[in-house]
Amino acid sequence: MNVKMTRRHFIGTAAVAGAGMNLHFSSVANAAECGSTVSATAKPVLLGGKPVRTKGFQSWPVVSEHDETSIQEVVHSGRWYRGKSVEEFEEAYAKLNDAKYCLATSSGTSALYASLGGLGVGPGDEVIVPPYTFVATVNVVLLNYAMPVFVDSDRETFLMDPKKLESAITPRTAAIIPVHIGGAAADMDNILAIAKKHNVPVIEDACQAHLGQWRERNLGTLGTTGCFSFQISKNLGSGEGGAVLTNDESMANKCFAFHNNCRKRKTASYNFTYEGGRATNIRMTEFQGALLLSQMRGLEQRAKTRHENGKYLTGMLREIPGIVPARMYDGCTRNAYHLYMFRYQPEKFSNLPRQKFMKALSAEGIPCSGGYGPLNKASFIKNALNARPYVKVYGKDTIAKWDDDNRCPENDKLCEEAVWFTQNMLLGPRSDMDEIAEAVRKIKKHAEILVKS
Ligand SMILES: *Cc1c(COP(=O)(O)O)cnc(C)c1O
Repeated sequence: MNVKMTRRHFIGTAAVAGAGMNLHFSSVANAAECGSTVSATAKPVLLGGKPVRTKGFQSWPVVSEHDETSIQEVVHSGRWYRGKSVEEFEEAYAKLNDAKYCLATSSGTSALYASLGGLGVGPGDEVIVPPYTFVATVNVVLLNYAMPVFVDSDRETFLMDPKKLESAITPRTAAIIPVHIGGAAADMDNILAIAKKHNVPVIEDACQAHLGQWRERNLGTLGTTGCFSFQISKNLGSGEGGAVLTNDESMANKCFAFHNNCRKRKTASYNFTYEGGRATNIRMTEFQGALLLSQMRGLEQRAKTRHENGKYLTGMLREIPGIVPARMYDGCTRNAYHLYMFRYQPEKFSNLPRQKFMKALSAEGIPCSGGYGPLNKASFIKNALNARPYVKVYGKDTIAKWDDDNRCPENDKLCEEAVWFTQNMLLGPRSDMDEIAEAVRKIKKHAEILVKS
């Protein structure tokens, strides 16, 4: 979410509400509260009150002079292609995460694409994915003409339900892609155990989970590969960019070749050797490598701040009936909080609809969104499956029953309940968290009047 846009939108909303709704509020409020005096700040902005928060949250990205100097160096070097900075970044990012190998790519999508390329996933294969994720997780499956198989979400955690995983595995399963959505760890103990039992590789989609942990090990280092995104909204950014982590030397080489038109690492100029095989060019540029090296300086501190603020905010929000913060699995020793996610239960808020709740919260200076829709029901997937290549490979009957085989009822409910805050909102002082909780409590207190407004 664009923070500046949101703030501008917020100021607009607040001004309109403040100017237009005073009259409306006083009549309703007097009736409901028997004329008791309510201070202006105690009223929701949508009812003519003052916002809890007038300042914006920490802007994103956080830019320093180091970013400028590293970019300038690249500009003047004339070496703008994949080179020294990218290799330095790969080494640093592998070390930081305690992984043996790191491959930098042009995006998180291409990191996933390289991983599936490294595994040789193709038509006739099935790839298991969760429905609560960004479209890229599924797009890389479709790009390989493999069959996406959805495993429903655990509504409490927003993550792939490991209890429903094993029954989705067939002899055609070529990979499982658990997604650490919002930066919270998927249940890696159970997912890895099931994958091992059936000898299926695990590709972690850690695009939202930089420095998140499962039993003190960094996310993205537990599966066959782990994939990261450095798109600007992510917790580490270079505009666009991505990385694959792996401890498997053969996978590292295969992913490298796939990402570099089948050329090996350490080959100079055009004097390279082909490995042979289908491949592409999804290399990272020096500009991205240099920016990532300078942006990494603040990464650990920001991860700590988000984790602490997230925990503190959960402590307050879970005391408010009708607000259910996403539960973390016991093994999640650090949540990367790319998103702060909770479920909103309107029945505990006098049936105030979620849209109205979010509008009221945004008006208080707390920007929020409703998050993902049900991906397994997205029309682009149906269109892909009904197009010629899929029909040819899988046959009409398989495709006709795909809908029935891929229902995710828990996820459908989750998509109607979710509310998100973005990662930058967790980067400020604790008092920012207090204000978020205060705004929610204020809306709850006035929910009955807000429903009628
Ligand atoms: C951002 C994201 C991706 C894709 O990364 P890009 O760098 O935008 O290509 C994939 N999966 C998840 C869960 C993401 O959040």
